[in-house]
Formats: sequence, C-alpha cells, structure tokens
Amino acid sequence: MQTGLADSIRNTPEGREAEAILRKCVHCGFCTATCPTYQVLGDDLDSPRGRIYLMKRALEGAAVTDKTRLHLDRCLTCRACETTCPSGVRYGRLVDIGRGLVEAKTRRGPLERAKRALLAWALPRTRLFGAALRAGQLFGVAPATRAAKAWPAPRHRRKMLVLAGCVQPALAPSINAAAARLLDRAGISLIEAGGGGCCGALRFHLNYQEDGRDDMRALIDAWWPAVSSGEVETLVMTASGCGATVKEYGHHLSRDPRYAEKAARISSLTRDLCEVITPDMVPAGRSRGTIAFQSPCTLQHGQQLRGKVEALLSKAGYTLTPVDDAHLCCGSAGTYSLLQPAISRELRSRKLAALGTPDAIATANIGCLTHLQDGTERPVRHWIELLDVQ
Ligand code: SF4
Ligand code: SF4
Repeated sequence: MQTGLADSIRNTPEGREAEAILRKCVHCGFCTATCPTYQVLGDDLDSPRGRIYLMKRALEGAAVTDKTRLHLDRCLTCRACETTCPSGVRYGRLVDIGRGLVEAKTRRGPLERAKRALLAWALPRTRLFGAALRAGQLFGVAPATRAAKAWPAPRHRRKMLVLAGCVQPALAPSINAAAARLLDRAGISLIEAGGGGCCGALRFHLNYQEDGRDDMRALIDAWWPAVSSGEVETLVMTASGCGATVKEYGHHLSRDPRYAEKAARISSLTRDLCEVITPDMVPAGRSRGTIAFQSPCTLQHGQQLRGKVEALLSKAGYTLTPVDDAHLCCGSAGTYSLLQPAISRELRSRKLAALGTPDAIATANIGCLTHLQDGTERPVRHWIELLDVQ
C-alpha cells in the first residue's frame, strides 16, 4: 500500500514502524472474514482492512474525528486478522500506534473519560480489586472466589517464577496454586515474586500507554533479582493475556535505555504455562468427561500457540468436543466487555453456542473465564485446574 506519512511522524520510530506495516498490506480483505467485529457489525470500517485505512489516513495527517476513534475502540485487539493475513501485516503493532495518535488528537466526553480513568486506576490495584470483589460477593453481585489448594513449599533445584497478576489472585488463586502443585510433582518449584502487580496490558490497552509501560517496569524490577541471579530458569504465565504482553516487553521498552536490555531478557524467558507443562508431566487418566476448550485470542493469535492445551487435556482423560469458529474472540478482551458491552455480549452468546454442551468449558485466561462464566451455568475452568486432580 502506498503511503505518505505526515512530516510530524514520518521520521519517528513509530512512524517508521507504521509505514513498514502499512506497506505490507495489499488490501486483499482476507482478514475481514475472520474479524469478529466485522461479523457482528457488517461495516467495513469495523474490519481490519477498514481500520488500517483509517489509521493510514490519520498517519498521513488527515482529520481525525470521534468516529475514527470509535472504530478503533470497537476493535478487540484479538489479532485474528494477523493469523489470517497472507502478507504478514502486524495489525496489533499498528493499532497501538494508531490508537496513541488518535487518542492524542481527539477528546472523549467527560463520562467516558471518567470511566476509563477509573478502570485504569482501579483494576491494576490487586488489593483494591480484591476488597471490591469481597464487597460485591457480600451483596451477591460478584462471582465467588475459588479457594486454592495448598501451594507446595519450594524444595526443588529447578525453579520458575510465576506472575501473580492483578485480578487473578482475587478471582481465582486456585489457578496458580494448581500450576505450582503440578510442577512440584514434576520436580520444579514455582514461586511468586513479591512486589509485582499488573503486567501492564490493562492500562496500555486503555490507551494509557505510558502508565502501562510503568507497570511493565515495576514488574521487571520485582522479577529482576531472581532472574539476574539465575535463581529461576523461566517466567511462567498462567493467564495468556499477560503472557502475550510480557513476551512483548522487549518491544514495548525498546526505546527505554534503562530497561530495554532487561525487558528483552524478560521476554525471552517468558513462557505460557502450556509451553512448560509437557504431556509426560500429566498422568494418563481414565475417562473424565467432555470438555470444550475455548482458546483465548491471546493464546492462539497473540502467542500463536495452538493444540498444546488440548493435547494435555486429552492425555488426562478428557474428551475434547469440537468448537465451531474457534478462531473467534469470546468478547472479553481485557476491559472491552465493560466499554463495549453490547458487542461483547453478542460475541459471548455466539461463543457459548459454538462451545456446545460439554460437561465443562476450559480456557487459559482469567478474563475469558469470568466473562464466559457470567453467561452460562456450565462450569468454566482454567485448564490447569482440570489437570490438578490428585
Ligand atoms: S491486513 Fe492482510 S489480509 Fe487484511 S487486507 Fe491487508 S494484506 Fe489483506
Ligand atoms: S484485532 Fe480482531 S477485532 Fe481488531 S481488526 Fe483484527 S480481527 Fe478485527
């Protein structure tokens, strides 16, 4: 695609990156077929190709309006379009740049600004989120917390660090504990580093990009002693949304002279839990019932990991049921379900219909888990909890 970026951005690092991405897009439109928002709304400007066109115009210096921002806001950042694109267009990188530009050139209404600011302030604060959750549980308006089984004390030479996360410790401490128990049986001690918080995805994707980078720096600081001393061999992510983000720390902080090197090292050591748990660590089980696996976008598109969780669940004795249109987002997408509730609910209904009627639904991300559970009576679990059956 021919581009002529505005002078103000052409020679900046963002401008150069955006131009290289835009040049790859041949405008074929293959990506529209797999875009969830295009499927729901049917508007080309709510497809990857349409959004790329809007961002190209904005980067070329054309007027940016609230409508431009709306079409970018409606994007789930699910990156299904990246998986589909035959030209290798890195849409996720482009939309980060485009959103930053459009946010700076437009002004949201006061209510919307307040809502986004509140989310950006409150969600990454684990203690505050936990207190709000407990208050909600008292009044019966918040999901119950699933109690964790015992976390084995560190006893092995091999150690891995796990991200505690921001909302997951309050909603489902059972997930990291299940991972620790399974890895302990395989000869690996899993430890959480104190002082860490949100991976940065929440604020970054709310377009508080610099605040998101601050969260990334804080987490690097919390992890660095264990990483630099060689105490831990790997950083394990039990939420695929966090994993997709931490694997990109090297990119997000590449222009920060103090953190670039550390960020790249952190990213290179980061693995999703399904890359760490191998089939030989899972005892073969007898028939344990039917499971539909909802593969989060951050796992299948963001990290390009497919089939690993399904193989582990099969080995453990679960029968995987087929899922139609498994590439489509469930509508959770970080804070999307709170900011675009109508589209989010529609996508959830479609996803739950596609998941069919198994005994339980498995997933790999706390956001998808709570979002789906909110729409069904069927149990929704992180896959590691289904493997921790001893
Ligand atoms: S992003 Fe890829 S699939 Fe979509 S229009 Fe451009 S080249 Fe085609
Ligand atoms: S990231 Fe997802 S919602 Fe956004 S344009 Fe691509 S496919 Fe559509």
